[in-house]
Amino acid sequence: MAGKLFIVILTPVCNGNCLYCGGYDEGLMPPKIQYPLESLKKIADGNSVAFYGGEPLLEMEKMKEIMDSVKAEHFILQTNGLKLNRLEDEYIRRFSTILVSFDGRREVHDLYRGNYERVLENVLNVRRKGFEGELIARMVASQETDIYEDVMHILNLDCFTHVHWQIDAVWSSDGVWRDFERWVERYNAGVRKLVKFWASELRKGVLHGLVPFMGVATAIFKPFTHPPCSSGFESFAIATDGRILACPICPDLDWNEVGSLDEGIKRRLEILEPCLSCSYFRFCGGRCVFFNRERLWGDRGFRLVCSTVKNLVDSILACKHLILANKEKIMYPRFLNTTEIIP
Ligand code: SF4
Ligand code: SF4
Repeated sequence: MAGKLFIVILTPVCNGNCLYCGGYDEGLMPPKIQYPLESLKKIADGNSVAFYGGEPLLEMEKMKEIMDSVKAEHFILQTNGLKLNRLEDEYIRRFSTILVSFDGRREVHDLYRGNYERVLENVLNVRRKGFEGELIARMVASQETDIYEDVMHILNLDCFTHVHWQIDAVWSSDGVWRDFERWVERYNAGVRKLVKFWASELRKGVLHGLVPFMGVATAIFKPFTHPPCSSGFESFAIATDGRILACPICPDLDWNEVGSLDEGIKRRLEILEPCLSCSYFRFCGGRCVFFNRERLWGDRGFRLVCSTVKNLVDSILACKHLILANKEKIMYPRFLNTTEIIP
């Protein structure tokens, strides 16, 4: 089963209090891992393991125990960064990828997360400790985000290797959005501006690690056949009670439960219409299994989010020749690292 990614939910509990995140509802899974390490080893040895929460560093000792026991191809950490300073160098250096929640400009990050200074200091510290893997700023793009300004801010900090973002769409907490439709217009214009910047830099030989751009560009050579996060295909989440889920964010939905550590993976997911017939499918893969199946914002909301995908793909395809000339540099990701590619 090599080449798969297992997203280990170390705890559903979080020490952050971000405005747009409802976290996991209480009772969806136990606060700590209940299964024996041996059963994780059986499925995960030889594959990659990503630590996820809640906030995974609240279960730091368990995480280290797993890192000392599972023979993983890659270890990946997705964290809010608040406790990164407590993790010993020896463990930091063993990660191939560390993704840190970081929203861009100080005022935007602080509005939603309230911890700009502390997280940035911890990220800089990771670099000082000699971490040489991918250090990805993982943004949430929400009402106050100006995608061009916030991404440029992160690039100018010169401490992350990559920037990835997800639009706070469909399962955002109540009251966060004032006018999604008008925001989408501004967001699409910002993405076009950002692609122009990215391409002009690439022409000078500088590749900025903008994950959505590199991922969509890669689909020119290697089209997607399912959502790029690979949930339910090559990537599986393991709940603290040992259930195997396609996607880590919705442990309560029946279709998302595909097996257990005791029984293995029993079921594969299918991607549903309208994605399979969409002309953008090869660049989008249906975006996200949850988005493909659920319509929390109705058909209109679905179409609005799709308009952001189409705008991104069209902007990237407009520089196809430049991308073809830089294929080897751009191909991303080199291994599954939890980035969803499509924002
Ligand atoms: S653009 Fe929308 S409809 Fe088309 S594949 Fe992506 S998510 Fe599906
Ligand atoms: S993109 Fe969707 S399916 Fe994939 S991990 Fe994120 S929420 Fe889950």
